Amino acid sequence: MYIPTVKDIYQHTNINIVTRGTQINLKIAIIGAGVAGSFLGSMLSKGDHEVTLFESNREESHWPVCAWGASKHMLEYFSNKAGLDFSKYIFHVGKKLKMSLPNQKTEYLNLDGLVTYNKKQWENDLLSNVNVEYGISCNRETFPKEKYDYVLDCTGFHRRFLPRAKEDFVIPAYEYLVENITDIDEFHVMGYKGARGYFWYFPLNNGTGFMGAGDIDRKYLGIKEFFAEHPQVRIVKKIGRPIRLAPPRLMEPFCDGNIIGVGESIGTVFPMLGEGIIPSLLSCEIFLQVLDKAENDKKKFDQREYREKVLKKFQYYYDVYKIVRLKMDGKLSTVKHFNLLMSMYKNMKKDEKRFGFEINFDKMRRLVNAL
Ligand SMILES: Cc1cc2nc3c(=O)[nH]c(=O)nc-3n(C[C@H](O)[C@H](O)[C@H](O)COP(=O)(O)OP(=O)(O)OC[C@H]3O[C@@H](n4cnc5c(N)ncnc54)[C@H](O)[C@@H]3O)c2cc1C
Repeated sequence: MYIPTVKDIYQHTNINIVTRGTQINLKIAIIGAGVAGSFLGSMLSKGDHEVTLFESNREESHWPVCAWGASKHMLEYFSNKAGLDFSKYIFHVGKKLKMSLPNQKTEYLNLDGLVTYNKKQWENDLLSNVNVEYGISCNRETFPKEKYDYVLDCTGFHRRFLPRAKEDFVIPAYEYLVENITDIDEFHVMGYKGARGYFWYFPLNNGTGFMGAGDIDRKYLGIKEFFAEHPQVRIVKKIGRPIRLAPPRLMEPFCDGNIIGVGESIGTVFPMLGEGIIPSLLSCEIFLQVLDKAENDKKKFDQREYREKVLKKFQYYYDVYKIVRLKMDGKLSTVKHFNLLMSMYKNMKKDEKRFGFEINFDKMRRLVNAL
């Protein structure tokens, strides 16, 4: 009886595969060295795959545009997987986040794990064992996709390789890296009326921090005021790009031919906060699980399974997105949309450690009402 080998199966499915002993050796291109691309680059390079990562920025000017704030619990988990000691990267451990609200109201959120960390160094260290080609801006039309088994679109907001999504939604944002901060040493966020954006100050180390805003109306309230209130502050750099708030449910397709999107390119950003580091890493984990299964079963990467797992994991992000859009349009009613609000609360509460701050229904209701 003829029993096909793995090589035979893959020859028939037109996948360029080389077997080394029992291991399968895939040729993978990762486009984009942000959080998703760097983590996947590190994890896949540990295996028996041939991985090349392409990043449009030149190495010396590559900078992770982000305020570098996220939950320490989750970053410890992902760092362990990649063989890094996360404690080495922490800049500031938050205790209380000050939330300024319209009409001079203020709330304080107790923090449990929200930190800022050296994201640039963390990503550099992830890439230490990865073959990276810097300064190459790739696009779907000219990139030799057929030379690879898989091309991972980790281009974040740019989504350079996947087709246009059904209903994208992004919010303009920019920030300053500032130094000589002598009088604030905690997280501060100011929510704009109608949840149309927010201002943030995230402390780093040695009197440095990120100060910026995302604002659908591009008024960026709080930035000018910050400079006026802290005249001693010096600007180190100004950076920016829009943040995608459209959740995975609206960002399909996630795959196209041998292209697979991971991270913000497929909408893995928590829409209420514009927070994308942990969600991007969670989508990497799903990708790796599905790839692992394919390797164990000696099959092709199951795009349908990947799609289903991503949609399931980020299902409630759609409810959160709806709350944000209703609020922005002045149509959110805490009575009429009670189920949406409960979905956000229950899902966040279930995952409290993943956020790094207390999830309290009364505070959440007060915040939503005050905005
Ligand atoms: C101002 C700002 C502040 C933020 N602050 C926070 C925060 O504090 N905490 C948080 O959790 N989230 C924050 N976010 C969101 C978070 O940074 C992103 O959601 C997250 O980085 C997405 O990760 P990613 O790997 O999918 O994409 P990115 O990290 O955006 O990486 C994409 C990479 O692809 C590269 N690239 C793009 N196009 C091409 C191309 N054609 N060819 C080759 N390379 C390409 C880019 O240069 C980049 O390096 C912030 C976002 C912004 C804009």
